[in-house]
Amino acid sequence: MKYIIAIDQGTTSSRCIVYDQQANPIAVAQQEFQQIFPQPGWVEHDAEEIWQTQAAVFRQVLAQQHLNPQDIAGIGITNQRETTVIWERSTGKPIYNAIVWQDRRTANKCAQLKETGVEAMIKAKTGLLIDAYFSASKICWILDHVDGARDKAARGELAFGTIDSWLVWNLSNGELHITDVTNASRTLLFDIDRLQWDDELLQLFNIPASLLPEVKSSSECYGVTRHPDVGTGIPIAAIAGDQQAALFGQQCFKEGMAKCTYGTGSFLIMNTGSRKVASDNQLLTTIAWKIDDQVVYALEGSVFTSGAVIQWLRDGLHLFENAAECETLAASVADNGGVVFVPALTGLAAPHWDPHTRGSIFGITRGTTSGHITRAALEGICFQVDELLSTMNADTGVPISELRIDGGATANNLLIQFQADISAIHIIRPSNLETTALGAAYLAGIATGFWTLAEICQKGKIEREFHGTIASEEIEILKRKWLKAIDRSMHWAD
Ligand code: ADP
Repeated sequence: MKYIIAIDQGTTSSRCIVYDQQANPIAVAQQEFQQIFPQPGWVEHDAEEIWQTQAAVFRQVLAQQHLNPQDIAGIGITNQRETTVIWERSTGKPIYNAIVWQDRRTANKCAQLKETGVEAMIKAKTGLLIDAYFSASKICWILDHVDGARDKAARGELAFGTIDSWLVWNLSNGELHITDVTNASRTLLFDIDRLQWDDELLQLFNIPASLLPEVKSSSECYGVTRHPDVGTGIPIAAIAGDQQAALFGQQCFKEGMAKCTYGTGSFLIMNTGSRKVASDNQLLTTIAWKIDDQVVYALEGSVFTSGAVIQWLRDGLHLFENAAECETLAASVADNGGVVFVPALTGLAAPHWDPHTRGSIFGITRGTTSGHITRAALEGICFQVDELLSTMNADTGVPISELRIDGGATANNLLIQFQADISAIHIIRPSNLETTALGAAYLAGIATGFWTLAEICQKGKIEREFHGTIASEEIEILKRKWLKAIDRSMHWAD
């Protein structure tokens, strides 16, 4: 058996990658699927379509390399987190579309719950805040709004799962109803200390325990594939949520190591080892992974709009035709010309947590060009990540000295150099930027004996490193300007 397959089930597409013994990707296939917006603020996926597209790309990668199931040592799954599916155990049919992590339909319900004063208890148990983002209120919504769902749930006829559970259920042809600790830790129902579903939380969200999958570690042979669409007998050997898989794929194996993804949004996540660090600044405490009996915790913060601001300059303002051109445009000017761009197009997450902030551009003069605006937008991405870094440093008491990066926007050297400058941090860009899929593959490789951890440590190749080059006084001046801009853009929307 010469290969590991990573199933990378994302928010907009289903992907599969085959890795050889050297951890080189030798086959890749990807299919987008429909985004369903039934009402403003609602986002759904057709769970059947997720499975069908995932099975299709699985078959495609096997066909590309003329592989048989016997050639595959194991499958590692990584997935969009929090997205919620409920299906009938007898038929395997979902009773409602998957409610996606971005969906805000339960925001009011969550706000009401907050007012009852239970957030401190919830935070202590789950490491999370009360928010519509997480699965619990989505489960409750489906049970309350689908005809007969509560009765069926009471009779034990329904199953809940995040996308990993849904895929494993299908891969195993209904034999396995499981999830892993990383996905469970994003539901608001899981005690991340005791590593168990929590009865008090289940009662609070009115969710019967009979719905829940069994919670496993992130790297073990859970069972084998039994579905004719993907072939039978392949070990299903790893599950991890996308950000946690990326942390593993970036080889942030030691306490204090952190990675940041620069995609549509940005996600900074730090390995805090066996320490469950509670944030004073509303970062999330979550499980990074569990291998054998060892649980590793993480601290996580996100920026809602990072690469997406470049999309807006492209599609909204038509400043350039493809995202890569923004670097040339930004480099056409020596500096931002006094322009500061707060790219809070959909509000601000940590550490400001203000949904009413909107994108703002300050300091425009008659000399301002599209180059200055673009440069300021890229800098705005970095300032937001810098605030996450500072917040995390304050929470852990240990400054992050080295940051590993991935995601589409990290191709932009000007962006990354500015990050290194403003945060005075050493940044490492790996040659393989597909760290999410790679992390799932590594976890499956460990479970099946395909790789040892020591072998994995030999594999990560660095493509380029960036070091801060500007003086601390200059950093101070830039940050003061940024904070002034943030202050003036907050609480804007009614
Ligand atoms: P996601 O996984 O969230 O869809 P990706 O990792 O594929 O995101 O990255 C795409 C994002 O990166 C887009 O928002 C795009 O605007 C941005 N992006 C892509 N290339 C560049 C670039 N060279 N400079 C800045 N941003 C970029």
